[in-house]
Amino acid sequence: MSRYRKAHSSPPSRQTMNRTDLPGLYVHTPFCKTRCPYCDFCSGADASLIDGWLNGVLREARMYPGARPFDSLYIGGGTPSLLDGLQMAKLISGLNEIFRFADATELTVEMNPDDVTREKLECYRSLGVNRISLGVQSFVEEEVRFLGRRHNALQAISAVEAVAGAGFREFSIDLMYGLPGQTIEAWQGTLEKAVSFSPDHLSCYQLTVEGNTPFVRMAREGKLVMPDDAFQADLFVTTSEYLTGAGFLHYEVSNFAHGAGKVARHNVKYWQHTPYLGLGPSAHSFAGRKRWWNVRDAARYLESIHGGHVPVEGSEELSSSQMNLEKLLFGSRTIWGINVRDIVPPPSEERIRELCDSGYITYESRRILPTLKGYLFADKLPLMIL
Ligand code: SF4
Repeated sequence: MSRYRKAHSSPPSRQTMNRTDLPGLYVHTPFCKTRCPYCDFCSGADASLIDGWLNGVLREARMYPGARPFDSLYIGGGTPSLLDGLQMAKLISGLNEIFRFADATELTVEMNPDDVTREKLECYRSLGVNRISLGVQSFVEEEVRFLGRRHNALQAISAVEAVAGAGFREFSIDLMYGLPGQTIEAWQGTLEKAVSFSPDHLSCYQLTVEGNTPFVRMAREGKLVMPDDAFQADLFVTTSEYLTGAGFLHYEVSNFAHGAGKVARHNVKYWQHTPYLGLGPSAHSFAGRKRWWNVRDAARYLESIHGGHVPVEGSEELSSSQMNLEKLLFGSRTIWGINVRDIVPPPSEERIRELCDSGYITYESRRILPTLKGYLFADKLPLMIL
């Protein structure tokens, strides 16, 4: 019998999947008290710039008059939970004055466990925040320390308890696997702990060593030895099997929702070519076939804004073949798979049959649906399909 099962029985309907065609709004908060040694995000800005950044983001928002209503607002980072209640209130009410938002807009704020207090949670909730994404990464003390997080395992537990009891519509926990020396048992222990809090959503990312980070330098010097691909695959399969067994839907390679209605509406837009607007340093936007991105450096971002310029660093117009490739790439990562009618030229029936026989995909109603094995090879699957 194949080691891999189907990632799902068949994709849930659009109505039950928390998906719409309305655009999403992202705000990038480029501040962190300290840098985690694996992180290559735009996150090192000096926290004394928060008020300037806040004014900058609202100014940037006014540069997009006539934007369509949004149905998701995702305040990510960096560490948005460094914003105190007044700053968060200014951001959210400012965006509400400038833009229109649909009823029941999904409003997510990313939080670090060390910033979680009951007062802050109450304040965020009173501002309309209805979804918290908590960056726990691990419940094992040595792992949290290895990752250079600002919280410890006990703080992580208290933070999740506080968020779970704060009355938000949904909360999600971010976890990380594939750490040097991590055992299957230790990882499963973290998953079990996370599930014990009944989260609505879990994101489980494999630790990657890339970019300009201390971990990359340590790996180059032989001070960091990552698990091999076979063990990473075991961890991935363990994750999927455990969480689907606990009632989660494995709807994207790294993402699990406790039921179709708990899929992260905002993130899905990135994989579906639904338009989104990004504000703040390094934020990316997409509409039609155009993608554009802001300058990464917070000081340069503010200079640009205060000079009256849109702080865009670069843009690209996707050709038909690039759109094709992205549809294949995104479809290989998600439960919705690939509609063969969207691919020009469509893959041959023989190719599809071979991939079905090898256990990478299933084929239903003209959709190519990745299996768990397909998810595992999601980066290579598009080339196999073409
Ligand atoms: S808290 Fe998040 S954004 Fe900040 S350095 Fe750590 S991983 Fe990066």
